[in-house]
Amino acid sequence: MAAAYHLAAFGSDVTVFDPHEAGTGSGASSVAAGLLHPLTPRGKLIWKGEEGFEAAKHLIQTVNDKLVDDAAAAAGDDASPANGPRGCLTTNSVYRPLMDEKQVDLFTKAAEDLPQWVESLTREEIMEAVPGSTPECLGGVRIRGALAVDAPTYLKGLWSACRALVNAADADRNASGGDSSGGDDGASSSPSRKEGATWVRQSVEDVHALAASGEFNAVVACVGAGVKALAGVKDIVSLRLYVVPTTVDETGAAGGGNGDKILLGSTQEPFMPGQKVDRPPDMAKALRQLRPKVARFFPALEGVTPVGCTAGVRVMQERSSYGRIPVAGRLPFSKRGWVIAALGARGLIHHAYLGKLVAACALLDSDDCLPPQVVAPLEDLGKDATGDL
Ligand SMILES: Cc1cc2nc3c(=O)[nH]c(=O)nc-3n(C[C@H](O)[C@H](O)[C@H](O)COP(=O)(O)OP(=O)(O)OC[C@H]3O[C@@H](n4cnc5c(N)ncnc54)[C@H](O)[C@@H]3O)c2cc1C
Repeated sequence: MAAAYHLAAFGSDVTVFDPHEAGTGSGASSVAAGLLHPLTPRGKLIWKGEEGFEAAKHLIQTVNDKLVDDAAAAAGDDASPANGPRGCLTTNSVYRPLMDEKQVDLFTKAAEDLPQWVESLTREEIMEAVPGSTPECLGGVRIRGALAVDAPTYLKGLWSACRALVNAADADRNASGGDSSGGDDGASSSPSRKEGATWVRQSVEDVHALAASGEFNAVVACVGAGVKALAGVKDIVSLRLYVVPTTVDETGAAGGGNGDKILLGSTQEPFMPGQKVDRPPDMAKALRQLRPKVARFFPALEGVTPVGCTAGVRVMQERSSYGRIPVAGRLPFSKRGWVIAALGARGLIHHAYLGKLVAACALLDSDDCLPPQVVAPLEDLGKDATGDL
């Protein structure tokens, strides 16, 4: 969706194909914890972490401001500041307890090397900052500047912001104000609609064929786990399933005691060939694995009743000397087809950065502006390309 947003920002009409409701999707983005910071679990900077963070923060802030403005406008005079409309940003305070000597060593070094991101805290300081956290920890860190978003709210807001950009450009182009943007949410059942910002609730069976059809100037495949059906890319990625039980904050453990959602961490398992991405997750199994960890890590949540459970698939490339980095560029064997894939465990960091670069490349018909590291795996696959598949 970030690619669609940036295509719109560059002045293009956009059509999003996704079988799910406009602005929702069903993939990893809709179940992500929503943490945004540029550090690995070992306290190092991830590949393009700082550039990605700035691009993501800018886009998230834009969407957040629009959500707040739209909600305020809808509420009119009834909006009270105390219960005022919420955007998609949930916190700018992200802490991590350090549970053993190895973590203390890693993050002591991180605080020395990256003081702009990592602030060391004593055990007393982290227990004060995060009431209910464990007295067993040896200390903690605050990740400076980190953010968290409510992922479903952000996705809806991002689609709404994308539509607003296209509609504003349409209004400029066409003062008569003809309806070129589909229904209220841009949804359309017509796959051939190409004006405005349109969400077509359909799966694309063959991205290469759509790109080769000439119906669109450019086709960007951002299909998450759907990449396993994408000829030319499917063999360079692997999938893992993550299951996340959720509870709500009735106790005040998360700070407010006001029914805020609390994610109890995630379990991971290999994704079996033929397994459905959106099958219901096994909450009992996930809780069996997570309860002992939660009890140790955040005792205030011991015994809480889960209210739901989600699952999502992370798509990853093999680890390289840069870590597990995404793939982005021209779809192998294609002229008009582009792809962003393998966003892995930290898609929020790279979504706006790569979404903008791939949007620019698609419009310029050149992948020169992309970092070579994300293009290389596709170039290797496409060495023998002779034209559209
Ligand atoms: C449990 C969990 C927690 C996470 N937490 C974080 C976090 O805190 N911070 C962070 O940065 N990252 C996090 N991630 C990683 C992040 O969610 C992903 O990297 C990112 O969402 C991937 O985005 P995507 O657009 O590539 O794929 P997706 O979000 O999976 O979107 C793919 C979309 O494509 C659609 N689609 C698939 N096939 C087709 C087709 N053939 N035709 C049309 N549409 C199709 C799907 O319906 C879906 O809407 C988490 C992931 C998981 C699973």
